[in-house]
Amino acid sequence: MNQSITVIGMVLSATPIGEYDKRVVILTKEKGKISAFAKGARRQNSPLMGVTNPFAFGQFELYEGRTSYNVVQANITNYFMELSTDFEGAYYGFYFMEVADYFTKEYNDEREMLKLVYQSLRALASGNINRELVRYIFEMKTFVVNGEAPEVFRCANCGVGDRSMVFSSQNHGTICSECQGIAPDGIALSKAALYTLQYIASSTIEKLYTFKVSDEVLDEIRKVMQQYMDAHIDKKFKSLEILEMCLK
Ligand SMILES: [Zn+2]
Repeated sequence: MNQSITVIGMVLSATPIGEYDKRVVILTKEKGKISAFAKGARRQNSPLMGVTNPFAFGQFELYEGRTSYNVVQANITNYFMELSTDFEGAYYGFYFMEVADYFTKEYNDEREMLKLVYQSLRALASGNINRELVRYIFEMKTFVVNGEAPEVFRCANCGVGDRSMVFSSQNHGTICSECQGIAPDGIALSKAALYTLQYIASSTIEKLYTFKVSDEVLDEIRKVMQQYMDAHIDKKFKSLEILEMCLK
């Protein structure tokens, strides 16, 4: 007899299977990213219907079958309902789920990533911070959590920390004014933009979404993150394409 297990996690995605079922991907505290079958979850009166939608966060009881986990029941503590009536917010959220899915693995320790997606959805739902800023903070911190952070505290070439800096994806981080010749892709950074990148890199996840920036700094951070994402991720995220089409 297989036993059931209880995990804490968030539904990253749900795909319809057959007429009434779903396959869900859950990012869990205990087992990293897992895939589970939710039988009958698309039937109108199924208790699994709402609890297997993206963003649902809480406790999931799973039964380990021969080839896959099966969702038995769930106790959801946050559905992020604010986002269900908010197209733009929801698509930023779907984008975060896709990025998390891209970076995480089964049986890997993904607790920091789970915390990051949870806090990022909270920041979106609260509406207190510019959503584009939430996006770039989330992207940058995703690289940090996954050990792929760019250097932002000193020159990635000579190690000096107190000169003016440009950001260069080719050089995996900031390059000082003396070394700038090796960074043809360099993006000029104001002191405020450099400090913002340093704050995101070093802050705890709980304190990430506690600041605002000027439009000028947001422009700089946008250029940095677009360049860094393009250089490091070869996947096109569907939800981001939809979002960018709608924001134009
Ligand atoms: Zn240098």
